[in-house]
Amino acid sequence: MRDPDALPDALPDARPAAEIEIPELPADALPEIDAARLWDRHMAMAKIGARPVGGVHRLALDADDIAAHRQLADWALARGFSVALDPVGNMFLRREGADPGAAPVVSGSHCDSQPTGGRFDGIYGVLCALEAMETAEDRGIVTRRPLECVIWVNEEGSRFRPGCMGSEVYAGLLGLNAALAKVGDDGGILGDGVADLRAALPEAGARALGTPFHALLEAHIEQGPLLEAGGELIGVVDRVQGHRRLAISVIGREDHSGGAPLSLRKDAFVDAIEVCRGLADLCRDPSDVLRFTFGRFTVTPNAVSVVPGRVDMILDLRHPSQDELTRLGDLVAAEAAGFAKLCDVGVEDTSWHAPVRFSASVQAAYGRAADRRGYARRGIDSGGGHDARWFPGRWPTGMLFIPCEAGISHNPAENVDPAHAAAGAQVMADVMLELAMT
Ligand SMILES: [Zn+2]
Repeated sequence: MRDPDALPDALPDARPAAEIEIPELPADALPEIDAARLWDRHMAMAKIGARPVGGVHRLALDADDIAAHRQLADWALARGFSVALDPVGNMFLRREGADPGAAPVVSGSHCDSQPTGGRFDGIYGVLCALEAMETAEDRGIVTRRPLECVIWVNEEGSRFRPGCMGSEVYAGLLGLNAALAKVGDDGGILGDGVADLRAALPEAGARALGTPFHALLEAHIEQGPLLEAGGELIGVVDRVQGHRRLAISVIGREDHSGGAPLSLRKDAFVDAIEVCRGLADLCRDPSDVLRFTFGRFTVTPNAVSVVPGRVDMILDLRHPSQDELTRLGDLVAAEAAGFAKLCDVGVEDTSWHAPVRFSASVQAAYGRAADRRGYARRGIDSGGGHDARWFPGRWPTGMLFIPCEAGISHNPAENVDPAHAAAGAQVMADVMLELAMT
């Protein structure tokens, strides 16, 4: 069945919000971050939900994820920053500005993980934002605008689906009640998890959903190999590629595996393989830009002595071009049935996210900051979805990437060079300060 909340997700407006002026500050107004503190905090966070084989297991709103929120709040409160939760469980750590009525400069990411997650996915962007706020605090810098670190709830979607849920609700693209009612794989309800989080953070004030930002920034590990291969420290993200998911069902007939002769069978599994192979050939992309994945494959009844009567598959297509996603998805829908020899085939769109482009002025500010610090940089597209993807149509939004070792992520082996972590945090701090001064 299609989940109505996961449906037509094509963004209503993928055009960027109005651009803003980001003044360049003199180098002596931009302090150096504390790289040792930044690294120590990563190591401290990696202990929360640590797994014996390495990496972390912190599923959204489970006990470890809540403990991670508590640790972040403790660090913030110790510096006199305030803590607030919105109704879906997004957490905001705030350093006040000279003009508390001014829209804040917001930066952050997530602290939940995949079941076999690494030590840097998500938490890196959170700790960069907190480090920028602490650096300003260390130096007594008064910004006009408040600085905020946001921890978006349920980014990974590995317990409650879909992912990037907290940010989607904040952006007004998914209803609050629909999100709170989500039931996780373990039977837990998202709304109960939010209540647990609130109970663990009695100091937290209330934040209204959709409260405007001056700008939204997000730092993240690349989760791909390009920066490492090119020797760049900073990836200035231009676009998040779009994705289109199609549910393909192959309907055959269940039969006794000992009784039914091959000549009389309608084996859904055998035909599903033909459909997969045919579609893979159809979508072959010599430029190697398209991402084409059958990530879920469900055989029914999946019993050793029964000829499979039905196979359900999800085809996940990703591409930076909306036109190409439209063309390929339509082609799949039109041609899939033709590859099956005996079975019926149904194709249905389940979700469709348009590609989004980040703010040109934020990209320029990241580039300028990297150049000023002498960090090699390049423009890059994001292969994965991130929380920032929902906001370019609302407020100026931009992401930056740092390299991760061998491009490995969503894996206990995920690793980052401390010097690269510091470089990305420095660029983030510089741009947050520049944005907060006007
Ligand atoms: Zn992430």
